[in-house]
Amino acid sequence: MQTMRKQIAAANWKMNLTYQQGEKLLDDILGESIKLFAHQQVIFAVPFPYLLMSRSEVADEYNYFVSAQNCYHKKSGAFTGEISAEMLHSIGVPYCVIGHSERREYFNETNAMLADKVNLCLENSVTPIFCCGEPLSIREAGTQNEYVATQLKESLFHLSAKDLKDIIIAYEPIWAIGTGKTATTEQAQEIHAYLRSVLAGQYGQHTADEVSILYGGSVKASNAAEIFACPDVDGGLVGGASLVAADFTEIIRSLKA
Ligand code: PEP
Repeated sequence: MQTMRKQIAAANWKMNLTYQQGEKLLDDILGESIKLFAHQQVIFAVPFPYLLMSRSEVADEYNYFVSAQNCYHKKSGAFTGEISAEMLHSIGVPYCVIGHSERREYFNETNAMLADKVNLCLENSVTPIFCCGEPLSIREAGTQNEYVATQLKESLFHLSAKDLKDIIIAYEPIWAIGTGKTATTEQAQEIHAYLRSVLAGQYGQHTADEVSILYGGSVKASNAAEIFACPDVDGGLVGGASLVAADFTEIIRSLKA
């Protein structure tokens, strides 16, 4: 690796916290005044109604950003209750989580639909944080590599190398999300290196080396440093522990310096 890839601590609040609780959480985290290096970023994926408030909270902070947790897979139109990538762009939201396993599972999002979401995000200058990861049955069968490679191929491999470089990938084994069960550092490094090799096979090593691949799945203050130290792990997408200021600030401090 010649230059350090972006190292990212991304918080996924999911459907938690009231507006006031969210505002206080941001105040508490930002109040710690953690200064980030140029290659480090902190991203808060907050519920839609909190995006503008969160954006103004981080506005004066270097390398702190907000993200949506989802957007719709169509450009615009009669889709009551949905939010488009263009709408996100119009309020200055720079990131959007795409294909979180909860959306794949509870909202039947398919790889093809996620490819459309990725395209719409890129067309609107919104960077996708693209999630992939296998369920427990696949891990137990030992076919996790093929499973995640298919997710990448079907949702991302139509992109140019230039567009791919704009994407953040989050590998999140479903059996580790919200379960307290974390992948071992060996498991995380192994599959992150594999994902990078899949990217290299399609786009070349140079491009693959530029893509940040985050780990997600029960990252905590106590295990973040160990996981983030893996050479192919470029930070984390964090659910539960991102809701507690002291825990998330420790996770930010665990990013590779
Ligand atoms: C997530 O929501 O993406 C996640 C990884 O959750 P948790 O950290 O709670 O496992």
